[in-house]
Amino acid sequence: MTTSTATPGIVGEFVDPDDLICPCCRECAVELSTAGPGESSGFVHRDGSALCGTQAGRVVEPIEVAR
Ligand SMILES: [Zn+2]
Repeated sequence: MTTSTATPGIVGEFVDPDDLICPCCRECAVELSTAGPGESSGFVHRDGSALCGTQAGRVVEPIEVAR
């Protein structure tokens, strides 16, 4: 195994939420804070739609904006 310290797509602990975007369409991603029981929490587009590529059993993680 090689030592890998950074994996693209993994969101770190100290990322400003405002700097997160959908990895596909690059729209702003916001954390879904209204997920109820049985719903998967995660991130959505700013308009509330699931991030591109999200499907059952698979959650797409937003990426950090490169400024
Ligand atoms: Zn998207």
